[in-house]
Amino acid sequence: MTLVETRALTKHFPIGRGQVVHAVDDVSIAIDEREILGLVGESGSGKSTLGKAMLGLHDKTSGEVVYRGESLPARYGPQDFQRHAKRMQMIFQDPYSSLNPRMTVGEIIGEGLKLHTKLRSKEIRDRVADWLKRVGLEPDHMSRYPHEFSGGQRQRIGVARALILEPEFVVCDEPISALDVSVQAQVVNLLDELKRSMGLTLLFIAHDLSMVRYVSDRMAVMYLGSLVEVGPANDVYFAPKHPYTELLVGSNPAPDPESERKRVSTTIKGEIPSPVNVPAGCRFANRCPKVMDRCRSETPQLLPLKEERTRQVACHLFA
Ligand code: SF4
Repeated sequence: MTLVETRALTKHFPIGRGQVVHAVDDVSIAIDEREILGLVGESGSGKSTLGKAMLGLHDKTSGEVVYRGESLPARYGPQDFQRHAKRMQMIFQDPYSSLNPRMTVGEIIGEGLKLHTKLRSKEIRDRVADWLKRVGLEPDHMSRYPHEFSGGQRQRIGVARALILEPEFVVCDEPISALDVSVQAQVVNLLDELKRSMGLTLLFIAHDLSMVRYVSDRMAVMYLGSLVEVGPANDVYFAPKHPYTELLVGSNPAPDPESERKRVSTTIKGEIPSPVNVPAGCRFANRCPKVMDRCRSETPQLLPLKEERTRQVACHLFA
């Protein structure tokens, strides 16, 4: 059953003189209950903006976000944040800058409970202590400050802060990219374990395709504000259809040395076009090795493949 869905969601940022940045254009995607949807793409492809717009952290330019069948407001007021904080949360990329350095870890993790519940101080402290244990920290870490922790520990604090309200839907915005490689797997395994025990639904945004494949049920690939491919994570990773996905997978180092030796490395040539002057037709045409004449004038739609209905691709090669 679908938990959250975007319908033709568009987010543009005005930059003056009538110009706008096309951060997200016409994105329609549904995430089922207890599903992990991985979202990949180069920097500037609109992944974070899409995640934030789904949570109401960005106003929507047009289109809808539908949560359990209810269309959410285009612009959130304070009462909307109050209402939705308990069911939707975000884990941020940089665990240091997202934690207030003047607050203790106990205050940071317990803040949501203080704002959104009627629990007494003692009950809040007990829940914070419990959550510190659940994310692999110690209850007596409550009285310390963020700078006293390593990057991996700070991300665990960020995870506890996001999950203490027991939300249903969590956007994880590059939750591991600021961490050492050795710590990334620990944080991913923690999220996976909590997802299973709490029945969470996740939008997992990341650069590292092999990590996204590992954690996700399905994978969506975004390019210059639009979705170009969506499908089961293993299928998209091991048998990509869209030329951009093919190049993205080929340019992503494999996690283990054996696979890395066998990998055919590719690079994506050319510059990503400006999101202010989005080209007509296919947005990937200026970098695509398979470009055809029609690609420069006709915009390909994201459509299910005839032979593989669970996979959607936006490319004239498959129309
Ligand atoms: Fe390449 Fe054309 Fe497909 Fe775009 S529509 S990805 S330019 S083949």
